[in-house]
Amino acid sequence: MTKLSVVVPCYNEEAVIDSFDREIRRVLDSLPVEYEVCYVDDGSRDGTLGKLRKIAAEYADRTRYVSFSRNFGKEAGMLAGLREASGDAVVIMDADLQHPPELIATMLDYHRQGHDQIIARRTREGDKKLRSALSRLYYRSVNRWVDVELTDGVGDFRMLSRSAVDALLSLPEYNRFSKGLFSWIGFDTVHFDYRNARREAGETKWKFGSLLNYAMDGLISFNNRPLRIGIWAGASLVALTAVYALWVAATALTRGVDAPGYVTLVAIIVGIGGVQMVMLGLIGEYIGRIYYETKRRPHFLVKESHGADVRPRPAAA
Ligand code: UDP
Ligand code: MG
Repeated sequence: MTKLSVVVPCYNEEAVIDSFDREIRRVLDSLPVEYEVCYVDDGSRDGTLGKLRKIAAEYADRTRYVSFSRNFGKEAGMLAGLREASGDAVVIMDADLQHPPELIATMLDYHRQGHDQIIARRTREGDKKLRSALSRLYYRSVNRWVDVELTDGVGDFRMLSRSAVDALLSLPEYNRFSKGLFSWIGFDTVHFDYRNARREAGETKWKFGSLLNYAMDGLISFNNRPLRIGIWAGASLVALTAVYALWVAATALTRGVDAPGYVTLVAIIVGIGGVQMVMLGLIGEYIGRIYYETKRRPHFLVKESHGADVRPRPAAA
């Protein structure tokens, strides 16, 4: 029989974790699988860990959890969950019931047909207009720049086969941008659509600022092509300046001395200065990443666990 692991990163999810657990077990019990639910408490500051302890006491052999020493972020949470999971197939889902557990049945069908990554893609119905317009714009522009394909509406809700999970676990980088990594590993991938549900309780952990940072990660994580924007922008500016200088010289020669205003000069200096700053910032981003990678710090630290052997390892081996 297939063994299914459900990986659930939780950060301050006290308000929903019980109803999530009830739902997920109701669905899993109805499926012809063996299963385990692998929770990751991402350093919650509310009663999440206490609730996980109770759940683990009640369903000892079908529950694992690890609890981080502090908040390490959802990426680290997913990584810990994937290391925790022992199933032949692994589902990653949010604790807030925005990912309908019923869809696991559909995913399982696809898994049995031999697919390795089964991705539930949500439609943006019911999202805030501004947020979904911005996301669409982002995905459209980012896909021109990165090597992997990022699709709008595709989150982390998906089922992965054992080989896909092992592939992900073999990637040692410290900066993990999962959306990109999922796509980078390849394997036989299918998508299907579902309608997004409202968060059951508690509140979203994504502030606008963290979304912007996440967007930047997506741009920078997969290649160094953005560095080239600067090179081309700089080169075009130099070319424009040369043309302009020639034109000024030519008019001065043919029509006598005609000192152009300093405004043009200021514009050119500021323009070139701007390009240089953007470039320095970009180079700084990449160097910052190299700095983090070379430290080889583990992605997370565990303070407590149940049924799981998730010792932290160095980020890059
Ligand atoms: N999450 C986490 N660590 C964090 C932030 C979020 O493990 O630092 C978890 C959170 O508990 C939830 C999932 O990631 O299970 C998605 O978070 P959220 O619902 O806040 O994101 P949204 O659905 O608004 O994109
Ligand atoms: Mg959510």
